[in-house]
Formats: sequence, structure tokens, C-alpha cells
Amino acid sequence: MVEPIFLIKCLYEAQSMKHKSLSKWHRDRLKVRGKAARRNDGAMPHCCIPGCGRPSQAREGKGFSQFHCRYHVQWNNRHGSYWKGTYRAAELLPYRKAAERYLREHAEDKWITHTLGALDGIMRRSGPVQSMSDVMVMPPAEKARAALARMRAADVPAKRLLVVYLGVSAAVAEDPIGPGGEPGEYRRVQVAKAAHRLASGYHTDYGYERYPRSSGLMLRHLGQQIEKACEFMREYHLDAVLDLKVAMVGPLPPGPPPRFPRSRNDRQGAPRGW
Ligand SMILES: [Zn+2]
Repeated sequence: MVEPIFLIKCLYEAQSMKHKSLSKWHRDRLKVRGKAARRNDGAMPHCCIPGCGRPSQAREGKGFSQFHCRYHVQWNNRHGSYWKGTYRAAELLPYRKAAERYLREHAEDKWITHTLGALDGIMRRSGPVQSMSDVMVMPPAEKARAALARMRAADVPAKRLLVVYLGVSAAVAEDPIGPGGEPGEYRRVQVAKAAHRLASGYHTDYGYERYPRSSGLMLRHLGQQIEKACEFMREYHLDAVLDLKVAMVGPLPPGPPPRFPRSRNDRQGAPRGW
């Protein structure tokens, strides 16, 4: 006898997997473009990021944001914050080393064992590896699932994902400059970006690699799934990892004062991890 709740779950998943037809996709796109092109005179005249000076998207009739310009909205899509950039690998290295050592020393801990099982589970349940041309047109939640399937196919161990989660969470916790915005969003996006880098390429039949974009709602979904699997880590182990990092290499040195990025050519102005 099949459990009714199981049937409901299957129906719900089948519904969420349903794809739009091409004509409906085009119709929806035109509708959204029409709405985005409406000028809203009640929106902020200038972007809220200090020193930016561009008009807000809604004021200009070029998008929905009433407080930020197009450049900073796209910045937020890619990095999870309107002004903070993505952590470089060199910035994350001391936190990653501390997390690796901590996991080696506490391999028997029940919360760590449970989390490794949960991370293995989300990779195992992520379905088949999808072709990159299909991934490009998938809804964000399915793009996140496809990213996990690529990690499983590339034999990324659950321990490596846990190291990424602990390392990024420790870096965000020690960073004196907050990312603003919705609580936890920057951390989840940064975790997802670092995890996405572990296996983002797809080898095509034509002999070259294709890489999906590391931005948008997909990162929020991927970060959320990883964080849900690691839910006990921040409560029980994050402080200890941070203490270990400070014991190994010392506290974070004071960095240069932050400058807000004004354009994509303003390289010195783009704070990466600060
Ligand atoms: Zn701006």
C-alpha cells in the first residue's frame, strides 16, 4: 500500500518539473518586459549606494528596483550583496585549512557524521546530470539540482562541501564589514559560489567545456540546500573552527577602507571580500 503523502509528494514534484511551452515562455517574457519598462516617478531618483549617482531602475523604466541602479542590482545577483564582492580563493584558504583540520580532529562527532550523511543525500537525490544547453533554460531550483548532480558525477566528497560551508561561514563571521540585505543571503550565495566552482563545467560531445553562469536565484537555491543540510554546524562547531583559524594564523588583519564599486571598469573600487 502506497502512502498517500508519498503520492502527494510525487504529484507536487511532477507539477514543479513541468516546463513552460515556448510560446508561453515568450508571452511571459514580453509581459515582464512591458512591466519593467514602466517608469515609476515615486521611486528613488538616485541609487542608494554612496557615490553611485545613477538613477534607480524603476525611475529610469529599466527594471523593478526602486532603490538601486541596474549595475548594483546585477552586482547583487552575482555576489549576494549590493556592495561586497566575492571572496577570493586566497582569502578563504586559512578558513578552509582550519575547517579541514577541525574535521580531521573531530571525525567521530555525531553532528558532523549526520551532516556528511545529509550532504551525501542531497547529491544522491539530485537526479541525472543534465546537458548544459538544457540547464541554461531550466528554472532556478532545477539549475541548483543540476549543479549538485554535476558534483556527484565528479565524485566531489561530502567532506569537501562541508569544508566549503564551514570555511565560508567562518570568513563571513570574522569579516568586520557586513553585507547588508536579507540576513544570511550573502553567506548562502558565497557558499553556493564556492561549491559551484567544485564542478561547474560540463564536457560537451564536441570536445569542449561549457560553464553555467554563477549568478541569480540559482545560487540562492543551491546555498539554501547546502545550508539546510549543514544546519547544526553553525550552532555547534563554527565558533570552534574560527578559534582554530585564529590560533593557526592569527586574527584577520585590518584591511584597506572599503570603496564602493561604481562601474565594471573601476577595478580598484570593487572590494573583493572586504
Ligand atoms: Zn548604483
